Amino acid sequence: MGRTRTPVVSGWFTEEAPDGGGFRLLGTRCSACTAVFFPREDAYCRNPRCPGGEMAEVPLSARGRVWSCTDGRYRPPAPYVSDPAAPWEPYTLVAVELEAEGMVVLGQAAPGVTVADLAVGSEVEVVPGVLYEDADTTWTTWRFRPVGGAR
Ligand SMILES: [Zn+2]
Repeated sequence: MGRTRTPVVSGWFTEEAPDGGGFRLLGTRCSACTAVFFPREDAYCRNPRCPGGEMAEVPLSARGRVWSCTDGRYRPPAPYVSDPAAPWEPYTLVAVELEAEGMVVLGQAAPGVTVADLAVGSEVEVVPGVLYEDADTTWTTWRFRPVGGAR
């Protein structure tokens, strides 16, 4: 039997955006001040100058520009949970500026993408990723990769 694909965090992204645009992060937008929030804020608008509006789910831009990036080349100490017997896989963390939303979102780069592939200001797109797998479940997340694919 195949594994079930399950988002590691429910409601933060969708495999198929309502506009047909494929994989997208999901935020919420305030009906009063149009501020967009990610991670999503469903209870109330956090803009201190806003009189308060209805929060509605909105897919975020599929593409943005690298604002900053870094990589993790060693295992973080406790209380970070990891298996010391497993080999440590370096990963790349990227902050992506979404111009339309006026925000910077964080995520890991797609496998094989390094800081050398992510010049500040270069265009990246959000793509589906796998955080980890166990016997029954593929836990899905989001990743960023350079537009045009990783080199
Ligand atoms: Zn608002």
